[in-house]
Parts: sequence; structure tokens; C-alpha cells
Amino acid sequence: MFLKENLISIKSTLPEHVTLLAVSKTKPVSDLMEAYDAGQRIFGENKIQEMVEKWEQMPKDIQWHMIGHVQTNKVKFMAQFVSLIHGVDSLKLLEEINKQAQKNNRIINCLLQVHIAEEETKFGLNEDELNDLLQSENFKKLQNIRIVGLMGMATFTDNQTQIKKEFSHLKSIFDNIKVLPIVNCQLSILSMGMSGDYKLAIECGSTMVRIGSSIFGNR
Ligand SMILES: *Cc1c(COP(=O)(O)O)cnc(C)c1O
Repeated sequence: MFLKENLISIKSTLPEHVTLLAVSKTKPVSDLMEAYDAGQRIFGENKIQEMVEKWEQMPKDIQWHMIGHVQTNKVKFMAQFVSLIHGVDSLKLLEEINKQAQKNNRIINCLLQVHIAEEETKFGLNEDELNDLLQSENFKKLQNIRIVGLMGMATFTDNQTQIKKEFSHLKSIFDNIKVLPIVNCQLSILSMGMSGDYKLAIECGSTMVRIGSSIFGNR
């Protein structure tokens, strides 16, 4: 088992301002505990039920990030403990997160997912939809959510030029909206980069990389 070594060697290459999210989806608790014992405290899952089960079994100083597409009817299961939801791409979902956060007497941090890839299949808002959402009155009323940044996924390709173009595009959108004075927005996190493209993502301004297979092995 080389998990610990993988984790430590990736960590050593990250600049200080970049946070490592260990993407542990489909992996057993024993693997997560090995990463935990090596100092990792931030884990990402893409299924709510799986995240809840791991949260119940594992130490309580872990920060759990939801990185998958979230169905509104499942927000209630993670509202008590989730520390960041990465894939938020609609007002309807934000309203449900706000409602469940209120019930739990807390503020839930969210990232808005922006569609930067060429593929049609990936979720996310385009730039116009993003701006419309941030300007809408219904959005500004939500007091139990906080938008702390943006998330995006590049096209799955070997073409470095294209990946770089997409990441740079997201960074420019991030810089534009970071300066807008919106009450429930305080942008500091730019979540981009996975095992295959995180170095490029960091070059383009990522502050949080979501790394799974390079730490835990193939799924
Ligand atoms: C699975 C997943 C990752 C991690 O992918 P790896 O290639 O295994 O590093 C990152 N982000 C999201 C949204 C994912 O679903």
C-alpha cells in the first residue's frame, strides 16, 4: 500500500496557498484512515449516502466536501455536517441548501460550478447564467448560504492548450466576480484541477485541487 507515500509526495509539490482535497469516493474507510493518519483532514465524496456513512464512522475533525451533482431531496442528509458543497449550479438547489442550513442553525459554504469544458455532459452554469444568478433578488435573500468560490472541470483531453484555455477562462470569471459587493458572497476558493491536470490548474490560479486516483489508486 503506497497511499501514504502518494499523499505526502503530492502535498510536497503543492504551493502553500493551494489546498488539497483528497477525493475518496468509492474507497473504503480503511484507505481514508490511512490518509487521515498521514495528516489529511479534507475529503471529497460524490454521493451523499456514502459521505454520511463515512462521516459517521470517522473522526470528527474531518472536513467533508460534496463534489458530485446534488439532488435537492438529499441535501437534508448532509446539512448538519458538510463543510463545502462544490457543485452548486442552480437557484433551486441554493434555496434548498439555505433551508436545510437554517434548520441546522448554520451557514453552509458553497462553490458555484461553472461550465468551462467543451463537452455537453458536464454540469455547471455558463457565465451569463452565473451573473444572472448572483444579481437576482431571490439569491440575495439567502442568508444561510455563503458563496466562497467557484468550481470547474476542464474537458477530458490530452490537449494541454485547450485545458489551459478553459482553466484560464474560469480564473478570469473568478477575478471578475470576486470584486462584486454581494452580501452572501466572499470568494476566496477556486476549485479546479484533478489527478490528470492539477499542475496546469495551479499554474492557472487554482487554490484547491481535487485529487483522487493519484492518491488512492484507480477506482
Ligand atoms: C472523481 C472526481 C475528482 C477526482 O478525480 P481523479 O482523476 O481521480 O483525481 C475530482 N473532481 C470531481 C468533481 C470528481 O468527481
